[in-house]
Parts: sequence; structure tokens; C-alpha cells
Amino acid sequence: MSDNKDHGGFFDTGWRPSGDVHRDEDGRPHEHPGLQEDVGLGVRASRALAMHELLVEKGVLGENEVEEAIEAWSERVPSNGATLVAKAWADPEFKKRLLEHPKETVIESGFVPEHNADVIVLENTEDVQHMVVCTLCSCYPTALLGPPPDWYKSFSYRSRAVTEPRKVMSEFGLELEEETEVRVVDSNSELRFLVIPRRPEGTEGWSVEQLADLVNRNSMIGVAAATEPGTD
Ligand code: FE
Repeated sequence: MSDNKDHGGFFDTGWRPSGDVHRDEDGRPHEHPGLQEDVGLGVRASRALAMHELLVEKGVLGENEVEEAIEAWSERVPSNGATLVAKAWADPEFKKRLLEHPKETVIESGFVPEHNADVIVLENTEDVQHMVVCTLCSCYPTALLGPPPDWYKSFSYRSRAVTEPRKVMSEFGLELEEETEVRVVDSNSELRFLVIPRRPEGTEGWSVEQLADLVNRNSMIGVAAATEPGTD
């Protein structure tokens, strides 16, 4: 804890030992004299830093492993899935491939399914509405949607998605026609689902970027509709 290492990234609290020389983005050394007097490390940050140093010292962790893992997590965001959905809306050939060869298409698009899980893509239509749950725990396509929201992991959602899916959807603002068939699909550690929501009307000729803005996270879980143009 008393060394002069620049820990950077996740552990960078802004604190530097007095007189510590470190480098800016251009590699020029500069100092932050006496910074520790203004910004001390909190107990938790100190503990985390000490643990990290110990694990690196013991060879359990590589020097940059935590940072790399966090970097990888930060790349898992709902806009990944939204891009795939928007491309599928805009390009029937892409949609066909995404539905027929989902995992390959996801990987070709630059996304890596977590734990090498299989991927199934389901399309919502006027006739069928798919809604995803993990009844056992919280399995979720994080590579495409980011970390799952708390409600997805809750016991309430995991049970009610099965017993009263229409009610759950209506709580998310989605009222289905009575004739629409509801299919609740159960993900697990080896299988993740991505839902293509119905494309909003009035979006003919829109670019993939414009369309992607309408693809909200909940619509790709199947509990909500895509965002209507002109609303947020
Ligand atoms: Fe799970």
C-alpha cells in the first residue's frame, strides 16, 4: 500500500502518494504533490487495493486481469442487442440468418456469448409474443443486453412471468391483443434468448442507427414493446 505504483483503471481513486511521479496520456511525467491530504482512500477501497496486490503477488491474478474483466463487462450493453434487432428490421436477409443461425451471426457481428452459451433469437409478431425468464436464477444474454436488471432476478418476476405473463407485460405498458399467443421461454446457463420486438409503424426507410434507438432493453426480453417513434 505504500508503494508508488500507478494502479490505474478500476482501482484508480485519484489518490497518489505525496510527490508521486506518474505519466499523463502523452507519457510525460508529472506530479501531484500532497494529493493524499485532500483525497484519502476509503476503508473499502484500501481493502480492495490490498487484496488485489496480494492476489497479484501470489500469482492468483494477472496484473491487468481485473481491469480487463471490467473492460469486457463495460462492452456488454443493450445497444449490442439493439443493433442486431435494428439490422434484422432493416434487412430481411440478415433477419433470416439471425433467426436460423443465431449464435454464428451474433459472433460474426462481433459479440461473444457469455460462457459460450447457445443463443436463440425469437421474433415477436402480431400473432406470437415471446417473453424471456430464467425461472431458476438470472440467466440472461449479457453479451447482448448488459447485466440483468434487478427485477429480472427477482423471485416475483421469475414466478409471475410463468403464472401471469400478460399481467406482467401490462405492468411494463404492453397490452396484447387477446388473440396474440404468449410464449414464455426459460433460459438457463447453456441457453440465452434474444427477442426481436415488433417493428414500430411509421419507421419505413429508417436507417439502422435510427431504428436501434427504438429498441429498448425490455423489448428484447419480450416484456415490453419497442419504443414508438417520437416518444422516449
Ligand atoms: Fe439463471
